[in-house]
Amino acid sequence: MVSVGVLSEAFCLVLEQEAGSVSEASLEVITELYGRVGRQGRPLVGIGCGEQPTAEFALLGEYGLDLVLLFPVPAGWATVLRRRMKTYLDRQWPPVLVAPATLWGEEVVLGLASELDVPAFSNCMQLETVENGAVRVERLFYEEKIAVRYTLAPGSPLLATLAVGLTNVRRRRPGHRAEVVCVPDTGRLPADPVTVLGRIKADPRTMDLEEADVIVCGGRGLGSAENFALLAKLADMLGAAVGGTRVARDNGWITAERQIGQTGKVVKPELLLSFGVSGATQHTIGLRDSRRIVAVNKDKNAPMMKLADVAIVADAREVIVELIRRLEAAGAGLGRRAARQN
Ligand SMILES: Cc1cc2nc3c(=O)[nH]c(=O)nc-3n(C[C@H](O)[C@H](O)[C@H](O)COP(=O)(O)OP(=O)(O)OC[C@H]3O[C@@H](n4cnc5c(N)ncnc54)[C@H](O)[C@@H]3O)c2cc1C
Repeated sequence: MVSVGVLSEAFCLVLEQEAGSVSEASLEVITELYGRVGRQGRPLVGIGCGEQPTAEFALLGEYGLDLVLLFPVPAGWATVLRRRMKTYLDRQWPPVLVAPATLWGEEVVLGLASELDVPAFSNCMQLETVENGAVRVERLFYEEKIAVRYTLAPGSPLLATLAVGLTNVRRRRPGHRAEVVCVPDTGRLPADPVTVLGRIKADPRTMDLEEADVIVCGGRGLGSAENFALLAKLADMLGAAVGGTRVARDNGWITAERQIGQTGKVVKPELLLSFGVSGATQHTIGLRDSRRIVAVNKDKNAPMMKLADVAIVADAREVIVELIRRLEAAGAGLGRRAARQN
């Protein structure tokens, strides 16, 4: 059992809750923190919204949390949670307070930093402890070409959000349960100044590639901007996002934030369709966690074909045209329409 008294040594993580459950992004951050600091004996504490110590919160022990503090605040009320945390944590401020780098995480942690007038670091790639227990975070700049590391002097609290989409969620401590403690209610809640009217599903055309469930990806083998326009049409019909290789980016067929790979985005969609891509390591490093990969290439020996679950030896353009034709015949636009309705 870990007592609330450990807070002054703990690494704290604000849990994001979606539709009543702890989000995948939060599980990623727990996995990452446990791998880096939890194993060194640092207590890991989750901060969530809720009035009951449910089994779901206790199960977070399997991912690495030792303790979950539940604030009696409706999930989604970032401003009110911030105020409650500020009052509560003032008594024993943790050395590290992080959240996933999502809208919610940034609202809570960066908002808190602004209210406390202390520095904060957003969208960090790594967090680790170094000599004397000091904490170091890493951020990328200039289209992710330059990594900058900040080491905080021991004793300075770190407030940060951690990039998501980089870590595979893992239950590293099967059978372990986190202690769940409800923070006492401190009186009537002021209404949150922000009212969430609803949630609109992101448009695959503009959404972050890291969040896409289906991606169509093109490389040099597509050969022209016209063929990338066809790829975009296919993406539209499937409700997919468009990605590409660095060659595609260098040719101006895609924009920088659509590049997948070492110097681009790391994606993990349910399905990735790859057209005219050789499969260089610098590219595949960004997509190897995709659940299913279908590759189309003229060269059956291309590394991308070896990586794929389904490899089609064919001309990439011809396959795209045929897919569009069949989708149109089947009453296409299914993906786009479904995305709009949600
Ligand atoms: C430091 C560094 C970082 C890098 N970072 C990245 C990165 O983040 N992302 C990235 O993608 N690359 C990156 N690269 C570049 C990477 O090494 C490759 O050069 C690049 O991924 C190759 O892109 P490609 O597959 O589009 O082109 P190519 O390697 O030229 O492959 C084209 C493929 O298309 C096939 N093809 C040709 N015509 C057709 C056709 N008509 N139909 C079907 N198939 C066809 C060919 O058989 C071939 O396999 C990086 C390189 C370096 C040195």
